[in-house]
Amino acid sequence: MSSFKAFDLIPTLRTTLNSKGFTQPTEIQQRAIPLLLEGRSVVGISETGSGKTLSYAIPVLHILKSLELAGDPVSVEAQPRAAVIVPSRELGEQVAKVFKLFTHDTRLRVRSVLGGTTMEVARKNITGTFEVLVATPGRLVQLMDRRLVNLSDVRFLVFDEADQMLDQGFLPDATRIVRECSNDLQLALFTATASTAVQELIAKMFSEAEVIESEGSHRLVSSLTTVNRKIKDGKRFPVLKELLSEKVEGGTLIFTNTREQCDKLALELAEKGYDCAIYRGEMDKIERRQNLKSFREGKIDLLISTDLASRGLDVEHVGRVLNYHLPQEIENYLHRAGRTARAGREGTVINFVTERDEPLMKQLESVRAPAKKPKGKTRK
Ligand code: AMP
Repeated sequence: MSSFKAFDLIPTLRTTLNSKGFTQPTEIQQRAIPLLLEGRSVVGISETGSGKTLSYAIPVLHILKSLELAGDPVSVEAQPRAAVIVPSRELGEQVAKVFKLFTHDTRLRVRSVLGGTTMEVARKNITGTFEVLVATPGRLVQLMDRRLVNLSDVRFLVFDEADQMLDQGFLPDATRIVRECSNDLQLALFTATASTAVQELIAKMFSEAEVIESEGSHRLVSSLTTVNRKIKDGKRFPVLKELLSEKVEGGTLIFTNTREQCDKLALELAEKGYDCAIYRGEMDKIERRQNLKSFREGKIDLLISTDLASRGLDVEHVGRVLNYHLPQEIENYLHRAGRTARAGREGTVINFVTERDEPLMKQLESVRAPAKKPKGKTRK
């Protein structure tokens, strides 16, 4: 199946897909959409940037609109039919944005209740009737406690970036959310990595689900170029200056391992006259969002971050990722590298390699994407 036309989607969805320039489904979309449309539950293990949001958004919208067209619209306030659970406000906003691409034509309504916004905003967002709720787990549980939202009609529940939520000890909330949903519940879970905690969740709640592991998961995508720069005597900054003098398409996302390294580098760059911003934990949330926005919009080309920015964030124009300080864990490396070369686009990851990074460099050999095959031959 090589085109969205091959799915039996309602016409409004097809039209929007076309008009937004989505013509060919990505691998995870090709495999997940038909199963979800059939009513199956799905676990998708798929590398970041693989197009997983649409792989559940399209079936959700199709199923909900079909119910409405069959004469069964949502009629009760604050009682959605689909819920998407996300680990962070940023990801929630991104997911809501993807859904909203389709709401003009489908007339389905998407609301969000996300941590990091006030309770008042959350309450306001869920007044009236709507079909899809995008929520962070903590905020959703608060609203459930106050009986401000009713999940009894939720027939489609998605856990997105489940590996990140489990980092935050989310299993009890997840269990409770599932219990409050309709008995006839279809589940979808997406994760970049199948960590032990994720496997536990799958065993507990998704034992009936079809597991799809996309070819590229745990691997680096083939449109990514990797460059290793040897660092001698700890002298990273001269190498960075050299790299920053090169003209590149798109922004540069620079990773460090700690908040201190992040701030120190930002200061050094600012002193040398580079326009840059930081994105890390324990900083003013408004400033952090503003920094991300400026980077997203291309107003600044350099964003210096810790692993906080390595997961889930979809920033369109990252041309290269610099690992100024390499992480120790391969999973973190994969998340960082996944910020560029998204959805088949080209991208580069440049590693500042010291002797201490040798163990990671060895592990990296096993996750490189296979070399592209010559044209004319198809790959299974
Ligand atoms: P996601 O993995 O959902 O965060 O998506 C990563 C990026 O891929 C987003 O910028 C999407 O707009 C883009 N994308 C998703 N599906 C497709 C598709 N079928 N064709 C082209 N781009 C896509």
